[in-house]
Amino acid sequence: MRRVLFVFVFGLALLAYPLITLAQTDDTPVEPDNPDNSQPVEFVPRYHTVAEGESLYFIATFYGVTQEAMEIANSITDPTLLFVGQQLLIPAADGEIVPATYAPRFGENLDIIAERFGATPNEIIRENYLLSPNSVIGGQPLRVFSRTGSSTPGEAPGVGHIVRPGETLATISAQYGLTLAAVMDANDLTDDLRLHTGQRLRIPTLSNDAYTTAPGLWQEMSFNNFPIRQGDTVAVYIEYLEPGTPFGRITSPTGELIPIRFKPEGDGYTGLIGFDAFSAPGQWDVVIGGEGDARPWDTFETSFFVAGAGFSTQYIPLEDDQELRNTENTFLNTIFIDSNPEPLWTDVFRIPITGTVSAGYGDARSYNNGPIYAFHSGIDFRGNIGTPIFAPAEGVVVFAGELGLRGNALIVDHGMGVMTGYYHLDGFDVALGETVEPLQQIARGGDTGLSTGPHLHWDLRVWGKAVHPTRWLERLFP
Ligand SMILES: [Zn+2]
Repeated sequence: MRRVLFVFVFGLALLAYPLITLAQTDDTPVEPDNPDNSQPVEFVPRYHTVAEGESLYFIATFYGVTQEAMEIANSITDPTLLFVGQQLLIPAADGEIVPATYAPRFGENLDIIAERFGATPNEIIRENYLLSPNSVIGGQPLRVFSRTGSSTPGEAPGVGHIVRPGETLATISAQYGLTLAAVMDANDLTDDLRLHTGQRLRIPTLSNDAYTTAPGLWQEMSFNNFPIRQGDTVAVYIEYLEPGTPFGRITSPTGELIPIRFKPEGDGYTGLIGFDAFSAPGQWDVVIGGEGDARPWDTFETSFFVAGAGFSTQYIPLEDDQELRNTENTFLNTIFIDSNPEPLWTDVFRIPITGTVSAGYGDARSYNNGPIYAFHSGIDFRGNIGTPIFAPAEGVVVFAGELGLRGNALIVDHGMGVMTGYYHLDGFDVALGETVEPLQQIARGGDTGLSTGPHLHWDLRVWGKAVHPTRWLERLFP
């Protein structure tokens, strides 16, 4: 019940969001910066609301910018077509600004993000009402005024350098054949007394290498699929300089712990994490470490953000048997976590049935107007008794039998924690232990178990978590 309340409150917060955004917009003309000020003028995003009789040339002159810069910043093709009340972005006098939204990668700080967009850290702080330069959270979108010429960031070039005892900026700069100023500038250092052992510096090399923000001996640490919403599947990839066995876990805002199960992949390790529809929205923590062959890996801790997906509530005119549901879920979970470590699929998943969707994934469920303790774990497709059902990808049948709620049930293991379930079936076309190929007929639709008519319930599990199956029809994981 607490989770449901949480989802509800967060849903309200989402609804209120556009109002907050509007309220934040400053439509009062701001005086141009004092031209006598000899300090470099820092760009502050400003807006102007067009009043009766104003021309673009008049407004540009008022703010000390060119009419052309105004046209670029506001995508104006015909400057005579201004209207009263129109909101105009006032660009910096020296360049083109493209408003962008950016979900930071792990370990990226404001300096790096600012450099990649040609923005300044202070500008990002102001624009996002950040409480401190450290409040950048992986995956939580930031508003950025890009000066790269588009809304996409450039890479900040360079390699990482960990300061060892006795090293100074002078010795490090010399080691890489760079000037002191170049290294200081790349790291936003204002004096050379601030180095400490273990500090990570970015060395702005001339190579095409993009600077990776992972700390210490970590080479890479990425969550593929930012920003994360309820129902998402996320692929994690990590690389460490020393051999060993990685471990990791994520913790939800409500204290739920989910282990990350890694398998070797290239020079590193990869794993899949499922966020179900009841995943608590907000800030999650992640801890990744490893048992090294020689010594333990550095433990890496950071945070990321999970957004609510705005699922609603379905009212089902049936009596549920909560005790039976719990028993059945407990039994199925023993199957769901016993997956082949290696992925068996080779392509994007295919839809298992041709039929219209009668109930989508993720909506909270109330049976006979009772309390909400479950969400719809998959997608319901309308069909007739006997409608053919096909395998979405390569896999192995790990369950084929009758269950109290789900009726005749078939479960296929696709490896790497991924399983698909087919419920309320009329009959099976494959047997336990059988290997299946994509689009091979595996079962026939029916109306068995707790069901209001012939349909297929299809769900997709990632290490037991019921995720949005449609996402697997759209892209190839990991
Ligand atoms: Zn269903």
